[in-house]
Amino acid sequence: MRATREVRRTVARLADGRQIIYFDDTPDAPARTAVDTRDLGERAAAGHIRHDALTGDWVAVAGHRMHRTFLPPRDECPLCPTGRGSVPSEVPDADYDVVVFENRFPSYAPVAVDNVEAPPGYLHAPALGRTEVVCFTSDHESTFAALTPHRVRTVVDVWADRTAELGADPDVAHVFCFENRGQEIGVTLHHPHGQVYAYPYVPARTAEILTRATEHHARTGRLLGADLLAAERADGSRVVLTSEHWTAYVPYAARWPLEVHLAPHRDVPDLVALDDAERDDLAATYLELLGRLDRFHVSDGGEPVALPYIAAWHQAPARTGREVSRLFLQVMSVLRGPGRLKYLAGSESGAGGWVTDTRPEAVAARLRELAP
Ligand SMILES: [Zn+2]
Repeated sequence: MRATREVRRTVARLADGRQIIYFDDTPDAPARTAVDTRDLGERAAAGHIRHDALTGDWVAVAGHRMHRTFLPPRDECPLCPTGRGSVPSEVPDADYDVVVFENRFPSYAPVAVDNVEAPPGYLHAPALGRTEVVCFTSDHESTFAALTPHRVRTVVDVWADRTAELGADPDVAHVFCFENRGQEIGVTLHHPHGQVYAYPYVPARTAEILTRATEHHARTGRLLGADLLAAERADGSRVVLTSEHWTAYVPYAARWPLEVHLAPHRDVPDLVALDDAERDDLAATYLELLGRLDRFHVSDGGEPVALPYIAAWHQAPARTGREVSRLFLQVMSVLRGPGRLKYLAGSESGAGGWVTDTRPEAVAARLRELAP
C-alpha cells in the first residue's frame, strides 16, 4: 500500500496584493505565516494583446517586462526564501517545499487598465489572465532532475491544481505549464523554477494541434494523440522508454535537435484528470527521462553536458475541444552538441519551414542506450 500523501496548501498575499501559495509536502513543516514587508507599490496591471492580421495570432505587449530581473547576483535571488540572501525575496517565509506566486512582471494579469482604442482596421484586447512562477525547491543550486520522486509528485499535483483553478476563471481560455532551463533558452533566473501561463485566448500552436485533433476525430472517431501513441509503440524505433502508465518517444517529425514526447497510456485531456498511480509513475518516469537527456551530450573531456531544455505541457484548452484533446509533455532542446546551438534562422523564423540534421530514430536509439 502507498502511504497517503499530505500536501498542505497555504494561501497568502504579497505586499502588492499578488497571490502566493505554499505547497508543503514535508510532514510537520512549520506554518507559512511570514508577512511580506517590502514596499512594492502598486502591482503591475495587464497590458494588452494585439491581433496579427496576417496570421490570426495574438501578441502580448507587456512593456514593463523590459525592467524585469535579469540574472541577479546569487545573494539577490528573488526565488530563494527570505533570509537566505542580502535582500527580502518574493517568498516572505524562511523556507518552502514548493511555492507558486503571481509574476511581478506579468505578460498576462487579472488587473486590466489598458483601455486605449485600437487604430482603425486593427484589433486588440486586454491581456487578462495570469502568469505564475512555480519554485520547485528552496535549494538555489538544485535542478528539476535532482528532485526526489516525492517532490516531483508534489510538482505534478501543483500543475494540476493550477490548471483546475486558473482554467475555471472565465477570462482564461488556456492554461500552459512549462519550464525553461538554461541560459541558452533565455532563462533570466537560475533558481529551479517553472511557469504557468493562463492565456485569454488559445495560443497558435495549441490551436493548430486542436484543429488537427478535431479533424482526425471527425474522420475516424478516434483521438489523434491516442493513434500517434499506438503507432509509436507498435513501431518501436523511436520509443525511448515505457513504464506502466507512460511512454516516451521521439516524434516521427521531430523539429528540434533533441525532442521527446511523454504521453500517458490512458486517454486524459489534462493533468487534472491523472489519477494517483499515473502521477506517481509520471514522477519516476520523467526523472528517468531527464537523467538520460542530461547524459545525451558529452564534452571533449568526457563530462556529461547539462541539457538546456524547454518542457511544455500540452493539454486541452479550458473550454474548447476537450473531448478531442489528449495530454502530452514535449521536452525539446536547441543543443545540437556541446557548445553548438541550433538557431531558428531564415527558414524556421521567416517561413516556418523546419529543417533538422538529426534523425529521430538515431536520437531515440542513443536515449535507449543511456538507460541506467
Ligand atoms: Zn535562489
